[in-house]
Amino acid sequence: MGKMIERLERPDTYAVWSKNETTRFYSTSGGAFTEFAKYIINNNGIVVGAKYNKNNMVEHAIAKDLLELEALRQSKYISSNIGNIFIEIKKYLNNGILVGFCGSPCQVAGLYAFLGKNYDNLVTMDFICRGMNSPKALRSWLSEIEEKENKKITRVWFKYKEGGWKTSPTRTRLDFEDGSYCIKDGDDNLFMKGYLTSNFYIRPCCGNCKFKGFPRKSDITFADFWGIDEELDDDKGTSLLLINSKKGKEIFESITENFNIYRKNFDSIFGGNPMLMASANVPEKGYYFLKDLDIMSFSKCYKKYNKVSIIHRAYRKIKKLARYILKK
Ligand SMILES: Cc1cc2nc3c(=O)[nH]c(=O)nc-3n(C[C@H](O)[C@H](O)[C@H](O)COP(=O)(O)OP(=O)(O)OC[C@H]3O[C@@H](n4cnc5c(N)ncnc54)[C@H](O)[C@@H]3O)c2cc1C
Repeated sequence: MGKMIERLERPDTYAVWSKNETTRFYSTSGGAFTEFAKYIINNNGIVVGAKYNKNNMVEHAIAKDLLELEALRQSKYISSNIGNIFIEIKKYLNNGILVGFCGSPCQVAGLYAFLGKNYDNLVTMDFICRGMNSPKALRSWLSEIEEKENKKITRVWFKYKEGGWKTSPTRTRLDFEDGSYCIKDGDDNLFMKGYLTSNFYIRPCCGNCKFKGFPRKSDITFADFWGIDEELDDDKGTSLLLINSKKGKEIFESITENFNIYRKNFDSIFGGNPMLMASANVPEKGYYFLKDLDIMSFSKCYKKYNKVSIIHRAYRKIKKLARYILKK
């Protein structure tokens, strides 16, 4: 086993966004990942990240140029299939090629465990992670929409920013094979609504995540900068950037001109990003939810497991009425 990789207990903390408007629009937060990935590719390296396959499921893949990099961009809110990618990465590392790996904190830890030693030519990137959803749940949601629309979905775009970044968490754009698209937003987007509220289809192990807190496992951590100061927020997406190591710092310093950058106080980031420290609360009922997807549609299953009791519904109505009367 190689020597321990040094990681800061209190990483250098920044609010950043890419100066490239296209990168920013096509990224989930401020496009920080793409700027780091571009550095690696421009230094004859390869970048490994998550992309959709033709069935809209997610797998880790290698990008060797800027065009291939585009598919790795954006958060895909299901577990990605790692396949044999760690073996591939090891070959590149042993050949002296610069490798950038981006994945969930547990995937980064898994890569280090697999490699068993440190490589100077490996740069690891992760993100603050709410938890990985079951691919089966996404498949079921998409299939129901495909059946209703009678056409195949060719692209999933979570947190679609048209309409604003802050309201994007429950906005998903779905592109169809005939060139048309639809936007599932708010209550109409049951998949993201369920992910952000009931947690039924988050992997059970994410309910007790071992990779929260500090020091991080990766060189660089990205997140949405929820809670960004109003005067810095143009609602186009801001990345929270944590520089966890010397290697991360060296790369960041060489690409600062590509970003708008604001140094932040490390202690100020916890309020807006509870998932830095806490795991999602994954209910035991989730097991039955996923089992029921074998025999019912996503929306039926969603309704079954999110049934609001009559008393609760009456309480909500009275509260709404009281608020209306008070306003009048
Ligand atoms: C499942 C999941 C949960 C998240 N939860 C939170 C959260 O609770 N709070 C928060 O602030 N931010 C969360 N994020 C991170 C956030 O959504 C952005 O990805 C992050 O801010 C980076 O944005 P970006 O604009 O820099 O780059 P982007 O272009 O959005 O880059 C995303 C990077 O993540 C990789 N990636 C995407 N999907 C997956 C996947 N399924 N598995 C492994 N790697 C993947 C991509 O390959 C790419 O490298 C989560 C991301 C994911 C994928």
